Amino acid sequence: MKKHPVLITLFGATGDLASRKLYPALFKLYQKGFLAEDFAVIGTARRPWTDEYFHSVVESSVSSLATSSNEAKQFASHFYYLSHNVNDTNHYIKLKELSKELDNRYQLQGNRIFYLAVAPQFFGVIAKHLKDQDVLSKVGYNHLIIEKPFGHDYQSAEELNTALRTAFKEEQIYRIDHYLGKPMIQQLALMRKDNTALENILTGEYIKNIQITLAEEVSVEERGGYYETSGALRDMLQNHILQVLALITMDTPLDGNIRKAKINVLNQLPNYTNEEITEYFVRGQYGEDSAHTKPAYRANEHVANESTVETFVAGKISLQSNRWKNTPIYVRTGKSMAHKHTSIVIQFKELPGSEIPRSINFMIAPDERVQLDSSEATSTLYRAILNKYFNQKELQTAPEAYEKLILDCMNHESNSFSAWEEVAASWKFVDLIRDAWNKETPSFPNYQSGTMGPIASDKLLEKDGHQWII
Ligand code: NAD
Repeated sequence: MKKHPVLITLFGATGDLASRKLYPALFKLYQKGFLAEDFAVIGTARRPWTDEYFHSVVESSVSSLATSSNEAKQFASHFYYLSHNVNDTNHYIKLKELSKELDNRYQLQGNRIFYLAVAPQFFGVIAKHLKDQDVLSKVGYNHLIIEKPFGHDYQSAEELNTALRTAFKEEQIYRIDHYLGKPMIQQLALMRKDNTALENILTGEYIKNIQITLAEEVSVEERGGYYETSGALRDMLQNHILQVLALITMDTPLDGNIRKAKINVLNQLPNYTNEEITEYFVRGQYGEDSAHTKPAYRANEHVANESTVETFVAGKISLQSNRWKNTPIYVRTGKSMAHKHTSIVIQFKELPGSEIPRSINFMIAPDERVQLDSSEATSTLYRAILNKYFNQKELQTAPEAYEKLILDCMNHESNSFSAWEEVAASWKFVDLIRDAWNKETPSFPNYQSGTMGPIASDKLLEKDGHQWII
């Protein structure tokens, strides 16, 4: 197995993401031998923790995965804590010294990953200090992993990108969209690459419509303050939905460069007018449920009484390419919906004499599986392909998204991360929608908690003679 000597510096080490996702992901890489004795983690955050306390936090976050408490202890002994304020130059000088020391102690060959699990307003200042205080290593690699949100519109994303680029080149920046690390999504890309039979029918010639749904049953809960500055469009559509859309509609790249193929798709997003946005996009905000047990969005303590922030968006996207120009791609995401559900449904045309399925449903949540709707006679070939790539055993043992993405970052494998050009194209499209919506005040709330969104979302498809499958 390839060894991965590396120093991971984690900003935001006391946060929710770190303890819920990142420590378990690193632990799995450790258990599988990708991280062996030659790795170290520096955790930084504002709180004045000691190394010992940090170890106890790391141990408890991986305890359910560990085969023994000794295994968890051994793993946690690689972790070092540095109390840190992102704006304080002296702290970066300390960070540089500790990095050098750990590099020598663990023989890390100058390989460094800087993981920014902090609020986005800190990304620029951290990158600048890492460069100015000379924290980046001169040998080995320096990779930067950043979390969403990457800006809140095109302009802010561009400013952020410019700030990051003063310290890191594009190929050193790994923008996380954890959907891209999910086993189903990984397998989907692989399946498309390997199977011309399936690849050949993934075109508008055979497909009636595609439906991408990311429905959440949970409400915004304690994230109301954040959500008020974001909304469903920016929080889910700009990143996860458009990334999934790009993966399913891209031309499978012969050279394996998935990022370039996704950029091509995202550059074909329609240049809708305000009128088209009114016609093709629906926004919603949840009210309370019919039993009055789930409160309305506006009742959240961090939300304005008359908030016009959308907690639901549905839309019809028509790509401008020859492959897809007459095929509607319907997308939908929302909070406080009837059930948690993430899927990509492909509905095929009924072409006389053709041997293609009626539909394929790639379910990502609540569980991962594929449903093929097809006549007996035509199912054999497609069922065999789908069974090969999406069998339950493989899906269940596949690495969890963060584990896969951190390993990819160590392997200089950037296909499962978003390139700047993808982010830029996505924001330009989302800005069009936002600008059109800003011209009118919506009548909210317009859907009940516990439903699949406003009626207008169903009507959007009915106008075209279609309906949501889920
Ligand atoms: P959190 O609020 O739980 O943690 C934030 C961390 O930042 C803490 O460790 C805190 O000490 C540190 N911090 C804050 N101000 C600081 C300062 N001035 N100097 C140094 N450190 C400072 O947040 P989180 O949920 O862990 O999320 C972190 C980032 O990841 C955010 O950008 C968030 O949008 C993104 N994200 C989180 C999740 C998730 O599941 N939690 C999912 C996707 C993206």
